[in-house]
Order: sequence, then C-alpha cells, then structure tokens
Amino acid sequence: MASSLPLNIYEKLPVWTQNVVCSLVGFNMRQTRYNKSFYQFLEFLEQSQWWSLDEFQSYQNEQLTRVIHHAYHSVPYYRRVMDERKLKPSDIRLTADLIKLPILTKQMVRELGSELVSTEVLPRRRIHGHTGGTTGTSLQLYSDENTQPHQWAVWWRHRRRFGLNIDDEFIVFAGRSVIPLNSIDPPFWRRNLPMHQTYVSIHHMTRQNMPALLEYLQKRNVKYYSGYPSAVYLVAKYMIDNNVRLQSPPEVTVLGAETLLPHQRRAMHKAFGGKIIDQYGASEQCGNISDCEKGRYHVDMEFGHIEFLPLEGNVSNISRIICTGFWNDAMPLIRYDIGDIATLPTQNVVCSCGRKSQIVEKIDGRIESYIITPDGRQAGRLDFIFKDSKYIEEAQFIQHEISTVTIKIVRSKGYSSTHEKELLADLRTYLGSDIRIEIEYVSDILRTSNGKFRQIVSTVFNDQNNL
Ligand SMILES: [Zn+2]
Repeated sequence: MASSLPLNIYEKLPVWTQNVVCSLVGFNMRQTRYNKSFYQFLEFLEQSQWWSLDEFQSYQNEQLTRVIHHAYHSVPYYRRVMDERKLKPSDIRLTADLIKLPILTKQMVRELGSELVSTEVLPRRRIHGHTGGTTGTSLQLYSDENTQPHQWAVWWRHRRRFGLNIDDEFIVFAGRSVIPLNSIDPPFWRRNLPMHQTYVSIHHMTRQNMPALLEYLQKRNVKYYSGYPSAVYLVAKYMIDNNVRLQSPPEVTVLGAETLLPHQRRAMHKAFGGKIIDQYGASEQCGNISDCEKGRYHVDMEFGHIEFLPLEGNVSNISRIICTGFWNDAMPLIRYDIGDIATLPTQNVVCSCGRKSQIVEKIDGRIESYIITPDGRQAGRLDFIFKDSKYIEEAQFIQHEISTVTIKIVRSKGYSSTHEKELLADLRTYLGSDIRIEIEYVSDILRTSNGKFRQIVSTVFNDQNNL
C-alpha cells in the first residue's frame, strides 16, 4: 500500500500521515483496479458463469486463438519455440492443441527475462510486478492495464456470490509492509478510505500484540474479513483460546493466497461464524479457481485455461496446475507450470449450484508441500498435528535431506511432555520409522518476504522432481 513512496520515508511518518498516504495510494488503486474494463468484465462474468461446458470451451478456444496469434507475432520466445516446431498460430486453435507447445517453468521465466515480454505493448503501458517467494526466487513479471481489472473482476464475481459489494467495509490480514516493522505500540493497522479497507499487517500479529488487535476489532463493525488463511487463523485461534466473542463478527471471511487448511476453516467458523469462502489465484494472474455457494471449487474458465497434468508418483487425480492466461498481452504465459497442485474429483461431479464449469475437489498448494521419507512415502496432509491445536499455535515442517525432518513448534500455554509424546507417536504412524524426527520449540515462525506462511519447507521434493 505504501508502494508509491520509498519505505524508509513512509516509515518515519506519523501514524495519521501514514493513514493519509494509504488512502491516497488507495485512491489510485481504486482507479486502476476498478476501471471501465473491470465493470464490463464483471457484468459479463455474472452471466457467463451459468454457461454450458460447450459454451465455456468455445469461449476458451476463441481466447486462446487470440493469445497465440499475439504471442507468435510479438513475443520472441513463443516465435522461436513455434518456429522450431514448424507451428503456425493456426495450428493452435483449440485448448487441446496446447500440448504442441512446451511447458513453461518458473526457472525458464527467470532465465528468459525480456524474451517473454511482448514488443507490441509499449514500455510505458507495462506494469511491473513480481511474485513473492524467498529472496532470489521471486519472478519479474509484467502485465498490461487490463490484466489487474480482469483479475479483480473474477475475484469480485466470487465475493458477490456471497452477498459482498465493492463498497462494503472490510479488514485485510496479510503481508504488505503498511506498518513499520520496528513499531512496537499499537495501532498495528492502517486505513485506506477509498477502498473501504483497513489493513492489518501479519508481521505485527504476534502474541504480544493480539490483545490490542482484538480490542480494535471489537470496535469495528465491518462486513467482511479477508486475508491469508494463516493470518486470519491467528485471530480466530486467539479468540477461541481466550473465549473472546466479537460484538459484530464479519458476515463473510474471504481467504486466498495460501492453501486453506481444514483446521483453519474450523477455527474461523467457530470464532466468527458466518461464511468462510476461499479462492485460488496467483501473482502471475493467469489462472483462478473459486468456490461456490455449495462449497465446491470451480475453475474460472473465462480468465484462463487450466490443464491438470498428473503429478508423477502420485495417484492420478492429484495434478499439477498448468495455466494459460487470457488477459495479459504484455507477458502472455502459455502452459505455465505455476508450481501448485490440486486434487480433481475421481468421478464426474455435477455441482448443485448449477454451474457447469470444471470442478476441482481440493487445492493442495505448493508442489514442495510434501515430506519424502526414506521408505518412499510422500506425506502431504499434515493437519493431524493440529488435532490438539489447543496446545500448538503454529507448526512448520522443514526437510533438507531425506533422512530427517525438523518440526518447528510454537507451543501454547499448557503444552506438556505428554503432548510431545503423543505428537511423536502420530508422526511415526504417518511418516514411518525410517525417518529421523526432530522437534524444535520456537517463539515464532518466520514468514516469507510477503508475509506468507509455509507449512512445509522442503528442498528434497524439488531435487527429486527436478523442478
Ligand atoms: Zn458449484
């Protein structure tokens, strides 16, 4: 939010001035996000969500034909790979034709640099962005002025399904540096009036600061919360552990940017009541999946085409998410391996919401979200650790070699050696007897640079899969 001003200057301003800066940036944000093309696309999306599968497919083929034509004529990388394969744009007119082109990995995006940028979109019309991730791994991305409004239209179609509107007041719990990292006294929140938004920074949601944050939340009457599941979960968990009830709880809690884990959903439901809704998107803005009123995930097929490719060594319905975006002419991403996985339904499911767009059973999250054991297990669902979540605030699995897994745990009051023993027994059942398990108790768990929480940090899975 403070991105238009150098952070070192912003941080020295008094709180009220920071609030003004946030609102000024917010004014600008509102103009670029919610422009004419946003409203047009949103109106279109509200109709198209009821299309038949045939209608979705022919729309996707139309968009793909346009993207391929544009990429061939103005993006050096695509020109080269298509020439090498003796392909003309007319050879890729259906989404089924995409297999004629290679997969684009993150590593390739990093190495190709400007070769992926369209020469047709003038530099002044390109918007520079990047993915989060750890230092050195973030990707440099470009988009055009229509990309973000299209992405937001998809997000707003989702929110509107649950009765939310653009002018509703809301509180965001996420990773932007809107509050100086060294500030130790409240307020740990900033207002952005044009966007009706109050921003709470995850970097300040420490146990020490939670009472002040809750006192503030009690005073506010907002329609909805949004944010990273790991951040909103901290609020919910604090409320449950301390028997806090909000006077005016949010009617809806909108999650995104990280995988929503079952124990997090349960805690939010218990703490806030209301609807807990979730969607999957990415900073690359080339694919999106949103849940519906019936709690099922549907691919937002008007935004991009998603191929679900089998993940080697797993049961066949666990798939890599490969995206071809329709709305970024500055840097079209075609067959982009976003590094996330999803589980598809094992049989044809018809959703009772009436939508015919493709259904995804579950978003599993980052591809490295697996612990590999020496006896060949791939353990991905580690929520059992929260079975007794009363005594565990947060936990993170770290694996740098196949022989060992380290679990960092932030203990709650009341955690005892009995809990540790039970936990180790559970871990043994789940991970087998061949792996060394080390438990490390810590006071907090570091977030990535953009404030995201990673449940599993593994370099082993990547090595094994050559990603
Ligand atoms: Zn549905």
